[in-house]
Amino acid sequence: MSDHSLDPKDWAAFRKQAQDLLDHCIDQMEAAGDRPWQQVPDDLEAQYAIGKGGDVLARLKEDVMPYHAGNTHPRYWGWVQGSGLATDVMAGMVTAVMNSNCGGRNHGANYMERAVIDWTRQQMGMPDTTSGVLVTGTSQATLIAFAAARVRALGSEVRGAGQGNVRLTAYAGQGVHNATRKAIQLMGIGSDNVRIVPLVEGQMDMAELRRLIAADRAEGAQPFLVVGTAGSVDLGLFDDFNALADVAAEENLWLHVDGAFGAWTRLADDPYRSLTDGLERVDSLALDFHKWMYVGYDCGLVLIRNEEEHRAAFAARPVYLKGKDRGVASGDPWYTDYGIDLSRGNRALKVWMALETLGADAFGRAITSNCDLAQSMADEVAKHDNMQAARPPVSNVCVFTARADLPAEAQSALNTKIAIEMQESGEAVFSTTMVDGVEMLRAAIVNHRSSQEDVRAAIRDVAKRAVL
Ligand SMILES: *Cc1c(COP(=O)(O)O)cnc(C)c1O
Repeated sequence: MSDHSLDPKDWAAFRKQAQDLLDHCIDQMEAAGDRPWQQVPDDLEAQYAIGKGGDVLARLKEDVMPYHAGNTHPRYWGWVQGSGLATDVMAGMVTAVMNSNCGGRNHGANYMERAVIDWTRQQMGMPDTTSGVLVTGTSQATLIAFAAARVRALGSEVRGAGQGNVRLTAYAGQGVHNATRKAIQLMGIGSDNVRIVPLVEGQMDMAELRRLIAADRAEGAQPFLVVGTAGSVDLGLFDDFNALADVAAEENLWLHVDGAFGAWTRLADDPYRSLTDGLERVDSLALDFHKWMYVGYDCGLVLIRNEEEHRAAFAARPVYLKGKDRGVASGDPWYTDYGIDLSRGNRALKVWMALETLGADAFGRAITSNCDLAQSMADEVAKHDNMQAARPPVSNVCVFTARADLPAEAQSALNTKIAIEMQESGEAVFSTTMVDGVEMLRAAIVNHRSSQEDVRAAIRDVAKRAVL
């Protein structure tokens, strides 16, 4: 044994400790409903100071695990936060033990990643020319997709020569997620060149889109990209992907869709399933497993319809990374040729564990139920005199105000106060968003632990607090 090995000196003692911790972890997960978010104590950061050592297991149980972000709780609907799966516990153990670097080379995790990508590609209706890579999330997936779109527009010379004086422009609907602007900023294109297209009945206005493209061309810009949204953050809206694909084809634009959570309605029953009609026509799609496929953070995916175009933007291997026919350095593809990272963890295993243990149908049912719960929430809201939904929910997002009878400013203040107080009391977690000039309560339900009773109880609690 090496004299500097960091392995336990007493494996029997380590085994006992690890088994005890596993029990504690499963206890916490089983009791997720009793453990809402709680305020962290003032001295928590000091507790974490490196060098304290001591009984680390006891510290984990007392000072670490209670202060989770709350998204494992059944009444957590703030932002769009995945709720996690029990299968993640096992997948996490196996992932740690294997410690696979999924940048390339020939080993099991890369084959599993291919299986996960291929399954998803089929669910989304994309052809077998499609390639993909698991990433941290939709933000990174978006950047990868846009880089491929730019190479299509300017040729792979752009990788060496840069963009020069070409002014590229992109188009996205009102309410597009900031991930799109951020990616365009990082590419040096500048987010002033993201044209925001107004919505008509919740979808990008096609006439206005065409008008903006023509105006930009007339000014010497080069339109290269249109970004559709499957599941908008504020209201859970979906663009008309067939209409977008038609415009993209006519105008010679790359069609990308941000499907971070909404793409997964593809697994649901109608009417939600058909929200993604036409999605199969995209050039690229960004989505997350850590939101509406419920797996633990982090895991997103970019799919690119044409593998050649994907590789054209990223493939490059210096001599020390050259693939070989046999041995560890064989195997194909190497994921480093498909994205930003060289070293990358094994994100596929937790997805694979979830799908193989629970079956894809279970996810379809959970996603359908989450949409039904958003409808139920709107129904509960309608039972109270002055409480009002901003819009009838389209998918899994319900936005409402506690007191539509008050002036806008007073509504905003009250809704904000209710959200904070309910978070602090542990009753339920809503976030807030601005709709029609009012800051409203918003539930984005991507939580397989939520029941009808959770929704009823939470709306009852809002009603109690809406009395001034
Ligand atoms: C969450 C989200 C993103 C960003 O995804 P990350 O996984 O957080 O990087 C982008 N678009 C939409 C619609 C989202 O909901």
